[in-house]
Amino acid sequence: MKKLALHWKIIIGMVLGVVYGLLAVKLELVEFTDSWIKPWGTIFINLLKLIAVPLILASLIKGVSSLSDISKLSRIGGKTIGIYLMTTLIAVTFGLVLVNVVQPGKSFSEEKRIELKEQYASNAALKIESAENVKGEGPLQFLVDIVPNNFIQAAGNNRNMLQVIFFAILFGIAMVMLPKEKISTVKSFFDGVNDIILQIVDLIMLAAPYGVFALIAGLVVDFGGSAELFKALGVYSITVVLGLLLMITLIYPLVLRLFTHINYFDFFKGIAPAQMLAFSTSSSAATLPVTMERCEDHLGVSEEVSSFVLPLGATINMDGTSLYQSVAAVFIAQAFGYDLDLGQQMTIVLTATLASIGSAAVPGAGMVMLVIVLSSIGIDPEGIALIFAVDRILDMLRTVVNVTGDATVATVVAATEGQLKKVADKELLS
Ligand code: ASP
Repeated sequence: MKKLALHWKIIIGMVLGVVYGLLAVKLELVEFTDSWIKPWGTIFINLLKLIAVPLILASLIKGVSSLSDISKLSRIGGKTIGIYLMTTLIAVTFGLVLVNVVQPGKSFSEEKRIELKEQYASNAALKIESAENVKGEGPLQFLVDIVPNNFIQAAGNNRNMLQVIFFAILFGIAMVMLPKEKISTVKSFFDGVNDIILQIVDLIMLAAPYGVFALIAGLVVDFGGSAELFKALGVYSITVVLGLLLMITLIYPLVLRLFTHINYFDFFKGIAPAQMLAFSTSSSAATLPVTMERCEDHLGVSEEVSSFVLPLGATINMDGTSLYQSVAAVFIAQAFGYDLDLGQQMTIVLTATLASIGSAAVPGAGMVMLVIVLSSIGIDPEGIALIFAVDRILDMLRTVVNVTGDATVATVVAATEGQLKKVADKELLS
């Protein structure tokens, strides 16, 4: 088991969880599972939630403060961030349209939805609070909600994650504006904190196979081994995959066609090894060195552009993650029987965009950040338990899109800057 890659262990955890769950239902071990297995799943989710605030703070402050390079390359910087935001918004919108059309959460029966809602949305205070908030809301309320009046309070509640993001961005911008000597200690402090947090994520992910086992066993037992859950999760996964496919086969080719002369098949051939690595590691950060090498040597992007656009993209540009977050949030809401109004859907556009920017480029980060999206629309973040079973495989796929998106933008920026050179066919293929 030692040499087995983590994603295989997690997949094994999943399968064993399903097998155990089905057996537990058959052998009437439901109570045993509730008392002795399920709490491990809860602990695992708690761990993920525990690191959400420090993760956003550290990774965003690090990300934004490294924009000091942007002041040097302000034109390239502005262009890069602009295109990154655009592709992310397109991805979220795609996700929202798809999930509203397919409605995967509605595959649950009416009783199951009421049951789910009661089971997961146990935090009555949260519901009451959000209901009260909605009552007195004006059109600009979502903006008012983003600006905290007390940082400690904002960081003290996973519901206020957007306020933490706001503070982190403000902090990062102020760092960029100050002379380098003045902030060097703070910068290395946050760089260090960021590394530590990523290490903690690694540690938590070591427990993932067991956490996944417990969560899935618990889910299967809760559902009495019913096929309903599997069906709903299947439709949900297909919705996410469909959205991801649309990004790869429609949006990126379109963007490349509009702004560059590169042929999409050549682009695909050039970037394929990075995509494969993204799939097997589920981490844009781990894939970054290969993405850079492929963009420079096989797509012809200049080093100046790639060394700036790609590391920034690995941190802030996650089209696959944002698309997944919008689908997942609406799926969970549907499963709980909530009908989201236009305002709530707009909140998802905003929070999924910000949450994907704040997601670290490591396995599972997108799901941690989903907590923000759920909380912002008043859904109990415990709901992520519902989608955990299929998260790893979707993580692998969305990371492929994240990396492809970064490479697309790097190619576009290079082309518009006259920094995209032609490469020979054999280099594309090698
Ligand atoms: N694993 C993704 C990445 O590294 C982030 C996520 O969505 O979890 O790009």
